[in-house]
Amino acid sequence: MKIAFIGLGNMGGGMAANLVKAGHEVRAFDLSDAALAAAREHGCATFTSAAEACEGVEAVVSMLPNGAIVKSVFTSDVIGKAPKGAVLLDCSTIDVATAREVISLAETAGYDMVDAPVSGGIAAANAGTLTFMVGGTEAAFKRAEPVLIAMGKAVIHAGQAGNGQAAKICNNMLLAVHMIGTCEAFRMAQKLGLDPQTFFDISSVSSGQNWSMTSYCPVPGVGPTTPADNDYQGGFATALMLKDLRLAMEAAQASGAATPLGRRAQELYEAFAVDNAALDFSAIIKTL
Ligand code: NAD
Repeated sequence: MKIAFIGLGNMGGGMAANLVKAGHEVRAFDLSDAALAAAREHGCATFTSAAEACEGVEAVVSMLPNGAIVKSVFTSDVIGKAPKGAVLLDCSTIDVATAREVISLAETAGYDMVDAPVSGGIAAANAGTLTFMVGGTEAAFKRAEPVLIAMGKAVIHAGQAGNGQAAKICNNMLLAVHMIGTCEAFRMAQKLGLDPQTFFDISSVSSGQNWSMTSYCPVPGVGPTTPADNDYQGGFATALMLKDLRLAMEAAQASGAATPLGRRAQELYEAFAVDNAALDFSAIIKTL
């Protein structure tokens, strides 16, 4: 397929490279020259505007920083510029309302479009092992699926437009809450005289077991190798977790959902991010 790719940063760079590896012809655009140079090294053709990259394509994929940028790129350079038969996929993490608005504008102009945010970080983007949660009509999902599968290990239809973003922020709110809970439990166990490894051995096969404990343990030297074993470098940056929590709390307010623990998690990450935005989000254990 001929695919336009807009936004080749930490995530998009590896995703576009995987589309090339799967045999697609990728037409790339980014505002950054360095990102474009890296894309060329991975076999993408590069262009000087998103509209130019969209000429003659069958699909458009974007991986951009936020909702305002997604809306501006799609309304000025994609909708009406890409061929009408192209399927449009936004993989960025953005607010549910903007995702629905942009998809509605695309549909009114005659396009099929999905929101398809990802679970998995830069390593999964490079390895082609992302999980995509997809919102949109059944027809749009069917057309987006073969493009997404070239970049991921799982592609799941979450329902109507915007539901991909809804799934993503609910998932990451839960992740923040169980990470903080796991950190608290390890610290309290230590205060009470329990060795962290012993607590891990017990809790990982008891009812406190959860992903933050057994797959992403925040305590160095306990469980599998995680960012905690690398002084909390790499992994999922605190700044990105905070971005997702802010989106989640915005959506909670708009929908009238009660999220007292999500709200508290946001407060704790707001405070932690002031001096530690680049550290992995599990480093919040340092504050306890
Ligand atoms: P990034 O800042 O590395 O990349 C974004 C890219 O978009 C940059 O190269 C930038 O130059 C480009 N860009 C900005 N405005 C543009 C425009 N108008 N036209 C064309 N290009 C433009 O960010 P990232 O880490 O790759 O994240 C991208 C998205 O993926 C975000 O929505 C983020 O929340 C989400 N995400 C990131 C991770 C992660 O671990 N980094 C994990 C899951 C989801």
